[in-house]
Amino acid sequence: MSDERHQNLAVIGHVDHGKSTMVGRLLYETGSVPEHVIEQHKEEAEEKGKGGFEFAYVMDNLAEERERGVTIDIAHQEFSTDEYEFTIVDCPGHRDFVKNMITGASQADNAVLVVAADDGVAPQTREHVFLSRTLGIDELIVAVNKMDIVDYDESKYNQVVSDVKDLFGQVGFATEDASFIATSAFEGDNVADHSDNTPWYDGPTLLEALNDLPEPSPPTDTDLRLPIQDVYTISGIGTVPVGRIETGVMNTGDNVSFQPSDVGGEVKTIEMHHEEVPKAEPGDNVGFNVRGIGKDDIRRGDVCGPADDPPSVAETFTAQIVVMQHPSVITAGYTPVFHAHTAQVACTIESIDKKMDPSSGETQEENPDFIQSGDAAVVTVRPQKPLSIEPSSEIPELGSFAVRDMGQTIAAGKVLDVNEA
Ligand code: GDP
Repeated sequence: MSDERHQNLAVIGHVDHGKSTMVGRLLYETGSVPEHVIEQHKEEAEEKGKGGFEFAYVMDNLAEERERGVTIDIAHQEFSTDEYEFTIVDCPGHRDFVKNMITGASQADNAVLVVAADDGVAPQTREHVFLSRTLGIDELIVAVNKMDIVDYDESKYNQVVSDVKDLFGQVGFATEDASFIATSAFEGDNVADHSDNTPWYDGPTLLEALNDLPEPSPPTDTDLRLPIQDVYTISGIGTVPVGRIETGVMNTGDNVSFQPSDVGGEVKTIEMHHEEVPKAEPGDNVGFNVRGIGKDDIRRGDVCGPADDPPSVAETFTAQIVVMQHPSVITAGYTPVFHAHTAQVACTIESIDKKMDPSSGETQEENPDFIQSGDAAVVTVRPQKPLSIEPSSEIPELGSFAVRDMGQTIAAGKVLDVNEA
């Protein structure tokens, strides 16, 4: 069975296209629902004379959590395939989905995109594909779902595949990095077993496609970058910043620097899952203590890195952005809030340097007067407060951001160059 190889998986797609049902189906097919729980439900269901009870149980359970308003509904569920242990890290529909994707609070390596065959590409399909592409999802598995509703019609399937490929073209996501599967989460077609209902489909099942995902390579070779999520004071220890290591390794005894607060010291202790550890790696959520650092010296949004190669602090930076939705137009001088790792800083778009064709990346116009929804552009950005951020080409984990205004994600982007303060 499964060894220690691990994947963080996002399940994305338009509301009601079947994300929760697919997660339920995956948990069920991989035997991730405890046996005693299934047994208990089996008895109940048999008494009531209901079929398909085990899968129904999983779905009832998810629905119940939802009704109770539990934020952890389909996120944070775990299942194993032959190759990997998967953790579902994020599901849109969660209030914090966009924010989580950006802050890397639970960064996904790969994603399953669920598109209902009867509805096709819908607004959130676009939004999530766009965000996945900009925020560094490596591969997408596209489940063309609810095939039972369209009578397993091959032409319906082909139409959705073609529309999704068009969407990939528009946002510049390479079609080679995606696989397409004809599924019914509800009936279980092509999830664990090849379905007799789709004789025309000769691709992999969803579980096969999950097994075939490339193994995510932990970025241990890069310098340490640890965005700070919170800073606590713990009696007996002192000041304890906490956060997730994005890149590199932290060892006790290391000399570290916090930017942009511009303080530093020696790491005395590192704690993970309530235990002291001598070192921590990418993906680890840690609390740690640094000699001489007080609670007010550092804050959320700081990035911790090695003292001899401290995190960059931008006076200005250039970035490639794609405008997702804006009610009017964006011009130079616009100052929305940029969300990058754990930082939220108002930043002014100082100049719009060029507008590009989002599918080919070719320049369409130098110094345009404005950009609007659907446009891709290179812009120069000036943070209104110090902001630690890195070129995406050097440290992708610290090189992407979302632009939010009026409670919406307006745009997302990647940092090209940082002009340090
Ligand atoms: P989500 O909002 O994307 O998580 O969608 P849900 O998983 O909650 O599904 C929305 C509705 O579609 C529910 O009533 C499901 O029972 C139904 N549904 C999900 N997948 C399928 C499917 O493959 N076939 C059919 N017929 N219904 C489905």
